[in-house]
Amino acid sequence: MPAPGAAPTDFAPPISFDPAPPGGGPSCLLPPRPSPCALVIFGASGDLAARMILPAVHALHRHGALPQGLAVLGAARTPWGDEDFRAHMRRALEAAGGMDGPAWEALAPRVFYQPLDYADPAGFAALAARLDALDAGAGTEGNRLFYLATPPTVYAEAARGLGAAGLAREARGFSRLVVEKPFGRDLDSARALDVALHEHFAEHQVFRIDHYLAKETVQNILLLRFANAIFEPLWNRRYVASVTCAAMETLGVGHRAGYYERSGVLRDMFQNHMMQLLALVAMEPPPAFDAEAVRDEKAKVYRALRPFDPARLADDLVLGQYGPGTPGGAPVPGYRREPGVAPDSATPTFAAMRLWVDNWRWQGVPFHLLSGKRLREKLTRIVVRFREVPHSLFRHILGEDIGANRLILDIHPGNAVSLTMQAKLPGARLCLQPATMRFDFDAARAPARALDAYEKVLLDCMLGDQTLFWRQDAVEQCWGFLTPVLERCEACGAQGSPAELHGYAAGSWGPAAGLEMVQELF
Ligand code: NDP
Repeated sequence: MPAPGAAPTDFAPPISFDPAPPGGGPSCLLPPRPSPCALVIFGASGDLAARMILPAVHALHRHGALPQGLAVLGAARTPWGDEDFRAHMRRALEAAGGMDGPAWEALAPRVFYQPLDYADPAGFAALAARLDALDAGAGTEGNRLFYLATPPTVYAEAARGLGAAGLAREARGFSRLVVEKPFGRDLDSARALDVALHEHFAEHQVFRIDHYLAKETVQNILLLRFANAIFEPLWNRRYVASVTCAAMETLGVGHRAGYYERSGVLRDMFQNHMMQLLALVAMEPPPAFDAEAVRDEKAKVYRALRPFDPARLADDLVLGQYGPGTPGGAPVPGYRREPGVAPDSATPTFAAMRLWVDNWRWQGVPFHLLSGKRLREKLTRIVVRFREVPHSLFRHILGEDIGANRLILDIHPGNAVSLTMQAKLPGARLCLQPATMRFDFDAARAPARALDAYEKVLLDCMLGDQTLFWRQDAVEQCWGFLTPVLERCEACGAQGSPAELHGYAAGSWGPAAGLEMVQELF
């Protein structure tokens, strides 16, 4: 609450980096340049390849981050040749923006295409022969990265095809399999997929992407927590009142109704991105910043999740679906009127969830996760709300209700860390005013250009660094937590479900019941 009579003021002094210490700049770990390799993109004719993967390859190449011995081999059922795929890639780069003519001219001769029917063993044999030829012609040295950018129904068949053609063996170089979400649609299907992938590939060869983890600010959560001594003593049930993680989107389902109708917000966002945000906030300090140590600690968080109490489902889970609205003044249809969506669809496009991490550090601290489509703003934010002061000396100014401190990690937009506090307004009178101390990453003098999430993901796959990728035990723990909730909601249908499907207008903040759960967010 602002102090009575306090003058309105912009009280937000920025934090700045200290000047570089004598003899050196900020401490950095520069990724090494990866070994030569062939990047094989299955589903290369598709949406993900065009919007994310191909632009990321171009950007990495443009900035000199790719190895000299590189081949980009598109593979899909579409009967293209090399030149067709190069033309497709060029169009995709132009559409994505950031096309660099000279860089593209240098990259294009390293781009190839191999038509492939995933059910045909001869197709995989031809792929193997093509890769052998590229080892000799493009200098890829037997290293292969197979990126599954196909619908998930193809993953198992493609992995088996690669294995049967001997392409999973790491006899001459590495062979890695990159898998996009979703990793199954419940616990059983996630396990079945994993069994299929492991018929030929070992766990160290499987890279399960969560591109959220590759965002700069998401990685920064770990650095903020574990490279600063001041936060850790406060980072527990004694000082933290609640934690809120939100990922709000303004877009609707767009052209992805086929996928989304079967998925909904819980599978699309919670099973992966939201759970990763939760783990980064809640995990214990790992003994080292390496893949297994970090992933061990995340898995412990998931193991500590308290199973949903069916009796409290309606209190702890709010589901919603967007109706028509006029975000930004332009009318948009409701979810059920979107192309490809059933007119009576019960698929939730919004969820707010309260959950508990049953361990020594977090006992009794509620964690709130919220995500939804067609909301008022695109916003990804984590708010750690601290407990209020135990006794207020300033009751006569502020009343009993002194706003608690909040640490706000803005991931999008903003890329910033802010700490809210109560501070004295300059002047003779004793007036308190909520103030915000904010550090904006984008304004910092970075020693190098930040990598976009897909650039980081690709680079880490080439380098064999699994730190930012899902491990199967964590995938299963998260499905183990969410599957009973999904089954219960889906068995009851939308209207009769314990967590009723609330309508909300496109362009709003979502259903009121969901917002009540996450009041700390704003
Ligand atoms: P698409 O639906 O665009 O499919 C990609 C390509 O796969 C198509 O161009 C098609 O190529 C091929 N394909 C389609 N259906 C089949 C089939 N039944 N059998 C074999 N091949 C098929 O998918 P996206 O590019 O949107 O997504 C790829 C993967 O990435 C999916 O698993 C998705 O969940 C995941 N993902 C996508 C995101 C996105 O923004 N698009 C975001 C995050 C994850 P062809 O016909 O030439 O073989």
